[in-house]
Amino acid sequence: MMTGKEYVASVFDRVKQNNPNEEEFLQAVEEVFQSLEPVFDKYPNYIEENILERLVEPERIVSFRVPWVDDQGKVQVNRGYRVQYSSAIGPYKGGLRFHPSVNQSIVKFLGFEQVFKNSLTGQAIGGGKGGSNFNPKGKSNLEVMRFIQSFMTELQKHIGPDLDVPAGDIGVGAREIGYLFGQYKRLNGYQNGVITGKGIAYGGSLARPEATGYGVVYFAKHMLASKGYDFKGKTALVSGSGNVAIHAIEKLHDLGAKVIAASDSSGFIYDENGINLETLKRIKEVERGRIKEYKESHPHAVYTSAQEKSIWTIKADLAFPCATQNELDENDAKTLIQNGVIAVTEGSNMPSTLKAIQLFHEAGILFAPAKAANAGGVAVSALEMAQNSARTAWTFAEVDDKLYHIMKDIYKHTSAAAKEFEAEGNLVVGANIAGFLKVAQAMSAQGIV
Ligand code: GLU
Repeated sequence: MMTGKEYVASVFDRVKQNNPNEEEFLQAVEEVFQSLEPVFDKYPNYIEENILERLVEPERIVSFRVPWVDDQGKVQVNRGYRVQYSSAIGPYKGGLRFHPSVNQSIVKFLGFEQVFKNSLTGQAIGGGKGGSNFNPKGKSNLEVMRFIQSFMTELQKHIGPDLDVPAGDIGVGAREIGYLFGQYKRLNGYQNGVITGKGIAYGGSLARPEATGYGVVYFAKHMLASKGYDFKGKTALVSGSGNVAIHAIEKLHDLGAKVIAASDSSGFIYDENGINLETLKRIKEVERGRIKEYKESHPHAVYTSAQEKSIWTIKADLAFPCATQNELDENDAKTLIQNGVIAVTEGSNMPSTLKAIQLFHEAGILFAPAKAANAGGVAVSALEMAQNSARTAWTFAEVDDKLYHIMKDIYKHTSAAAKEFEAEGNLVVGANIAGFLKVAQAMSAQGIV
């Protein structure tokens, strides 16, 4: 009989062979696999059933052409994807990302992470992800609508309220969700549970826009409390200025921390008085502008371009990467550690490189991996599905309270799993194991499918 270590290594070799050049996907798989070795020593039946090799292969990947006409009358072509990763514990669930960097490796890494994240929420949702290399930046509303109508004309063949329920991610916010829902409805009739992140006027849940960012901060609160810390008087860096970052900043300010820097892909703003959220929201959510413009309203703030240096060079107690994958590398980790950071909490998916995570662990820094810390978004998506099914709508306070408790439970289960498998305090190991075990049990019970 193989040991857990031998089994994991042999499956990883096959994954590398079968998915050459899918860098981000292999990175996400490697991080999870490293954590799972002791699980297979404890449950050798999962080796016999070859759970890992089955789980790492998506159930289905759909890739399709998306032709549309721009405002100049020129025909444009993008590529659309939906990865239906695992339906072991529920319908496929996960966002759509519209960004020029989207390719098969990106949607597969996101879908793989989503399987574990969704399992950690404690809700009955499987994992999926999708998107397109379409760039909404600089496009008119009508261009975005025409692209989405073409995208959904194909995607609608593969989704449904009990089958696969998409939502937003980078580049897919309230406007895009509205157009996606409209086109789905036009082709299939009104089924409000087919997509989440909907507007309140047509079946959305209160607190869904806030959920990912608030959840990240609730998770950090419990992680900090385990070492006797709280947010009062702490300084924080929050990278990004999208939906996750904005609501993380909002909740950090609520709970007494001061966020002194935020960024977009061009650079970052340092404001020693604390980032003014109203200004940031106006620039990003209303004007769809660049963070550089923050200086026009707050001349004392300092703007630094991304080429010059990263946001992680600023000294602060807490770091919240909330922008995108691999935004925090080994050098950034070294700088943060030198500057005395206490905790790093991931808001975006896979923001830290494997080497950066290793350095945080070696330095004894509290580290919260995305699949646990940012699960609040998809958790409230599942609450939106529940409200849709029940034809009801909960208050903001009800949803926020449920979110708070879900995040508390995720922290509890993640730290307990780390302890059980002799990695106390290592929440990467804890999240991977706790997320995996539920999916493995479900797969084992359902036979070879
Ligand atoms: N895109 C978000 C995530 O990374 C939310 C997905 C959802 O609500 O389905 O988890």
